[in-house]
Amino acid sequence: MNISETKVAEQLKLITDATSNVDIISSGIVKGINIYNYSVNILISYKENKFCSSKQIKDEIEKKLIEKFPKIKLKIDNSPNYSTHSEIPHILKLSELSKKNGKNEDKWNMDSHKLFWHLDRVEKWQNGERIAPLHIDMGISNGCNMACTYCYGVIQNRSGFGTNQKKIFHMPKFAVKRFFKDAKDVGVRSIALIGEGENTLHPDFHEILEYGKSINMDLSLATNGINLNSKNADLLLTSLKWLRINISAGTYEGFEKIHRLDRKQMDRVLKNITDLAIIKKEKKYDCTLGFQMVVTKENFNEIVPLAKIGKECGVDYFVVKPCSDTYDHRLDAPTGEYIETLNTFKEAEKFANKDYAVNIKWKKAMNGGWKDYDYCMGTQFILGLSGTGNLFPCGHWFNERKDEFNLGNVIEKSFKEILNSERYWEVQEKIRQTVNVNNDCESNCRQHYVNRFLFHEGNNSLDEIKIKNKDKITNKPNHINFI
Ligand code: SF4
Repeated sequence: MNISETKVAEQLKLITDATSNVDIISSGIVKGINIYNYSVNILISYKENKFCSSKQIKDEIEKKLIEKFPKIKLKIDNSPNYSTHSEIPHILKLSELSKKNGKNEDKWNMDSHKLFWHLDRVEKWQNGERIAPLHIDMGISNGCNMACTYCYGVIQNRSGFGTNQKKIFHMPKFAVKRFFKDAKDVGVRSIALIGEGENTLHPDFHEILEYGKSINMDLSLATNGINLNSKNADLLLTSLKWLRINISAGTYEGFEKIHRLDRKQMDRVLKNITDLAIIKKEKKYDCTLGFQMVVTKENFNEIVPLAKIGKECGVDYFVVKPCSDTYDHRLDAPTGEYIETLNTFKEAEKFANKDYAVNIKWKKAMNGGWKDYDYCMGTQFILGLSGTGNLFPCGHWFNERKDEFNLGNVIEKSFKEILNSERYWEVQEKIRQTVNVNNDCESNCRQHYVNRFLFHEGNNSLDEIKIKNKDKITNKPNHINFI
């Protein structure tokens, strides 16, 4: 029998918690479900009491699941103080919906990874070689002209963000170009201009795109859309494989609240992306255009209006993802309080058609922010470069334990030098050996899907991987270099 998060949740719903007398899904005891092939990981959050012990709950879960799915390898984690609320009750209902609606095709594997199409690099990693990463999330500017409520730069009051906007720093263009060239030379297969800040603010932004294009680097951009200009449409649409607008509101009121800018700016963003979509269609450019919404506690009502706006603007997809929370849950990512979102998503999905996908990152929404692997190895395949030039194993360390995890600064040194340094490999090893992925890290981080693959399947022989995943591998998604 096929195992899915929903099917497992349905079984768990049959178990009653003796303390509250409701099932363990509705009571919120089950916080997360992670499934990788036959490995099933359940996260519960349960404090011992006189009516029932966590051992009793674990035994019941085990009995129920093994009975139903005899082949599974089950692991149950109990984190008694885990404060994230459970999303599972409403997601359960939502995924029934998604099955009924066959229109939504994820052509980009957004709720997974793309390492299956880079098994040459995986093989080198298996052999213990010092590999180059496949992908880099790169900032070229450190700071932003918005102040979104869920932005790490804003909540940490970093220089260049929120009220500190005047201190925006731009990486010198010589360093950006040198980095692109080095990355290309060593075998990096894609760079996303994404994160830390708003990269379109860089004074040499267009020249940088030209350069990336000239060396045939697969580039992409995530932006708030304010600075896009249709005068540069040809360059944007030919130098980028994909361009994504990060927007999390579909009404003026929501935009003002979430992005903290007035309605004129919202109109500007929507006009900019509509112009690009028109030019893309006219000139038949391949660049994929999309909207990404981060769902927080504040914006569930914005989902449907935004799904509609995305379609009207002519983008290719609208993706909804749960908010990645900090390790200490500072962003208070959305909760099971939002049971009514069933209808919300139903409405949002109605806007999908063959040219416009409405996708929800189900796996990330179902896992409660919990990681079903013991250590992180994904940072050897994906790195994070801050707009200040500091290179890190991932973006999580941009503002946490910087001295321990900074690999080097690409303004001061070339990427080749950093990659070949002992420091680089010492830090990578430190990540693998000392970082507790559930206690020290943000939830659902960029490397999450890659980490799951490496942990659950990474040690299998390549032949085994290829045979087991034959159907997936044949069904190649778009943008395989953006793992
Ligand atoms: S698991 Fe932790 S160290 Fe690894 S990429 Fe994610 S946030 Fe970074």
